[in-house]
Amino acid sequence: MRKTLYLKFILAYIIFGFFGFVIVATFVSSMTMEHLRREKAESLYLEAMRIANTYATDLYNNETSLETVKRQIDALDTFFSAAVWIINPSGRMILDSRAPVDPESEVFVENFDPGVMAGSHYVVGTFFDVFEEDCISVLAPIASDFKINGYVALHYSMNNLRASADSLLNISYLLLVILFLLSLIILIFFTEMVYRPLRKITVATEQYASGNMHYEFSVDSEDEIGYLAASLSYMASEIARAGDDQKKFVANVSHDFRSPLTSIRGYLEAMSDGTVPPEMYEKYIEILTNETDRLIKLTNSLLTLNNLNMRGMFLDKTNFDVNKIIRNTAVSFEGTCRKKKIAIELILTDSVIVHADSDKIQQVLYNLLDNAIKFSPTDSIIKIETTEKHNKIFISIKDNGTGIPKNELKFVFDRFFKSDSSRGRDRRGTGLGLAIVKEIINSHGENINVISTEGIGSEFIFSLSVSEEEED
Ligand code: ADP
Repeated sequence: MRKTLYLKFILAYIIFGFFGFVIVATFVSSMTMEHLRREKAESLYLEAMRIANTYATDLYNNETSLETVKRQIDALDTFFSAAVWIINPSGRMILDSRAPVDPESEVFVENFDPGVMAGSHYVVGTFFDVFEEDCISVLAPIASDFKINGYVALHYSMNNLRASADSLLNISYLLLVILFLLSLIILIFFTEMVYRPLRKITVATEQYASGNMHYEFSVDSEDEIGYLAASLSYMASEIARAGDDQKKFVANVSHDFRSPLTSIRGYLEAMSDGTVPPEMYEKYIEILTNETDRLIKLTNSLLTLNNLNMRGMFLDKTNFDVNKIIRNTAVSFEGTCRKKKIAIELILTDSVIVHADSDKIQQVLYNLLDNAIKFSPTDSIIKIETTEKHNKIFISIKDNGTGIPKNELKFVFDRFFKSDSSRGRDRRGTGLGLAIVKEIINSHGENINVISTEGIGSEFIFSLSVSEEEED
């Protein structure tokens, strides 16, 4: 691709030069010629009129001599490089700036017909075959007493006009060459600003296509190409990250499935080969049930996460009283709390209607409360508090449990994250509960934060939008 793009640009450049030349050689040439011809004809005609009204009229009125007028028209011939004639309407030559004065000689312009001008100031041609080369000829009548006595004719060689046109055209060619060379700057700009960065991008895409998503490159420009390069690089890093996450995810899932399966298998083997006596079966069956429960929980959590991802932003939002949901969730933990002697204290504002997916919010509260209870010591208090501020309701679940080490805080919402300390203690945990919570809250366009001190306790706070409407 890189060769063709560059070649295409060079080709366009050559075509530009070629057409520039063709246009100057055809249009510009003919336009210059046309312009010069009209201008020359105009000035010749004005001069012819002037002669007709002055010397020539004087001549016909016998106020001046042939020789005097001849001298005048000779001077004008030299000045204009144009042959000056004075002729009779019949075509008889009275004076010719290019021939001596000879009143005796009778030179006629054969077939002379002033009507040849036909409304125009000038004609181009050999003027009734008098000249061998083309001339611009103008004709001005010499009139007195409403009668045409004769004509002043001026003839200018077309070759002279072509020579002037050529020298003007040479300037156009020179300008074209200068323009062509100057446009080389565009080529240099193209190379530096488009071609080189594009090459970098192409190399990068080749690397990405071959699977090297960690390939790094940068284009130092702030235009669209720089933006494209940055976006591409960002996209690749995101794909690389997604790939890494995927690998980590599979490794975690495999690990989390393998450990309960290994222990189930161990217990079953021990039971079948007699290592565990039948009177102990009841105890081991309970362990096996716990392990399978854990596998079911893990599978359910994975399915929930997958559904959340697949359905993206799709939420079944309704207007409901969040206090009711909080109370219901707290009640569902009554048994567990009693066993651990944990009290749940509810500090709730007056009923607040929120616009959210109630089932999902219930799941959020369930997961957070489940963790709070799990990591709280016996005989402790868990506080659930709601605060309304700026059309938002903030729900906090605070425990006096183990807390989360500072360096682990930023990972708690990651999939499969379990703190080192909880790994041993909390065998039921999957490390997916908070990932699900975060996914749900974010899909509502809201946020969740955690404040925790190791050994003191943890507080999870999330927000929901307050609805102006009534409960559905
Ligand atoms: P799990 O199902 O293992 O509880 P979570 O995603 O809910 O998974 O939690 C991830 C980890 O975060 C837990 O293993 C624990 O280390 C830590 N954690 C979560 N909530 C609390 C809490 N209230 N107190 C202390 N640690 C917590």
